[in-house]
Amino acid sequence: MENSCLFCRIVAGEIPATIVHRTETTVAFRDIDPKAPTHVLVIPVTHHADVVALAGDPAAAADVLAAAAKVAEIEGLTAGFRVIFNTGRDGGQEVFHVHAHVVGGAPLGPMLA
Ligand code: 5GP
Repeated sequence: MENSCLFCRIVAGEIPATIVHRTETTVAFRDIDPKAPTHVLVIPVTHHADVVALAGDPAAAADVLAAAAKVAEIEGLTAGFRVIFNTGRDGGQEVFHVHAHVVGGAPLGPMLA
């Protein structure tokens, strides 16, 4: 837990969030500023800054992907969805506790439009 990390504080329950799914190693909660009908963030409970760091912890990475798939099932995204890891400045990452955006519930269009 890093006290200065927003998402560590959500894991600890210090900052409220609408939790969609929780396991021993992951938390999934609704994005505060949704960009689609379903927009859920999936994070590992352990602090990793970005997806590059997460790749160094294969068990945590697998748990995040499994949780993302479970969120899609819970949210009924049977027609498809997108899983996005914004990474670094050019990738538009704003919160440096790795998170998978699970986005869906409507046709999303071409990714690089
Ligand atoms: P990034 O740009 O780092 O990939 O995405 C960060 C996401 O976190 C954004 O979509 C933003 O809306 C979301 N976010 C920022 N602060 C909060 C918060 O306090 N609670 C929740 N639920 N989402 C947040």
